[in-house]
Amino acid sequence: MIGRIALAALSLVLVGCASAPPTTPATWSIALHGGAGVIERAQLDPETEAAYRGAIADALETGAAVLRGGGGALDAVEATIRVLEEDPKFNAGRGAVFTAEGLNELDASIMDGRTRAAGAVAGITRTRHPISLARAVMERSPHVMLMGAGAESFAREQGLEEAPPGHFFTERRWRGLEEALTTRGLPIPPRPPGAPIAESDAGPLDEKKFGTVGVVVRDRAGDLAAGTSTGGMTAKRWGRVGDSPVIGAGTYAQNGVCAVSATGAGEYFIRLSVAHAICARMDLRRQRGQAAADAVIQGELTALGGDGGVVGLDKYGRPFFSFNTSGMYRGALAEGGSPFVAIFDDE
Ligand code: ASP
Repeated sequence: MIGRIALAALSLVLVGCASAPPTTPATWSIALHGGAGVIERAQLDPETEAAYRGAIADALETGAAVLRGGGGALDAVEATIRVLEEDPKFNAGRGAVFTAEGLNELDASIMDGRTRAAGAVAGITRTRHPISLARAVMERSPHVMLMGAGAESFAREQGLEEAPPGHFFTERRWRGLEEALTTRGLPIPPRPPGAPIAESDAGPLDEKKFGTVGVVVRDRAGDLAAGTSTGGMTAKRWGRVGDSPVIGAGTYAQNGVCAVSATGAGEYFIRLSVAHAICARMDLRRQRGQAAADAVIQGELTALGGDGGVVGLDKYGRPFFSFNTSGMYRGALAEGGSPFVAIFDDE
């Protein structure tokens, strides 16, 4: 409840009056998610909950620092996601979930609302920051999406940092993989090279907490950008790729309309082109961000049986969130306001 009031106050800071928004206030705004899923108070001990809230607040501050310094929306998206990719609590970069073969195959995408240029990578195993590789694809290649070994050789050519062996490995995600494979009757692969000796007290991570990260930004020039980074789904097989690197499904940004990043069961988000569908409602049907996101997430996605949520900003930088799970790690911060950080659906 307090969270909703804070969010409403945040919107008012940005628009002054909800019924008559100014044309282009020269203020910045950032919103992010750290994944949606079954996140219940009873399952989250106070230290873990505080750690997640702190990580969200720190990530918001990272983006805010870029924007306060006059940085652009793309720079803020990339800098914020890089921080989250280093944080083992989230399913992106270090802390990513494992494939059934025991690998971390990472996906990411980024979109520039000014030009609708976009870049994406899928199935990355060695590049430390997939979001930076996605940005390099957008800015330094003639393509939108690169995958696997080819994407990694492009990363080397561009001089992007490689992750040392075992960098993405976390014991709790490994336990989550073992649990998922055992439930499905699949063999457990050997621990990957560089993984530390097994820790006996690391419990498995509940695989229903998805943990993907996504950031949307409006900078002082009014430009919008969005980005998403993930390890995908625990025990994925056969080169499975979800929505996170699919422009229009997991990520979308269009100046004057919206910026959106999604998280959840990617197959459904791809089928509905969720991020683009929300922006199209805002653009063509003149729906407010919250109404558009609710129509797609609470309406279409739920009707199809998909789980997850989105974070978005409208052209004024007003944040909106919609999810049909019991929680979504999320936050927002706007120039002149204080940070909004929330996890559960009743905040
Ligand atoms: N959307 C991601 C995927 O399907 C997973 C997630 O958001 O947690 O790969």
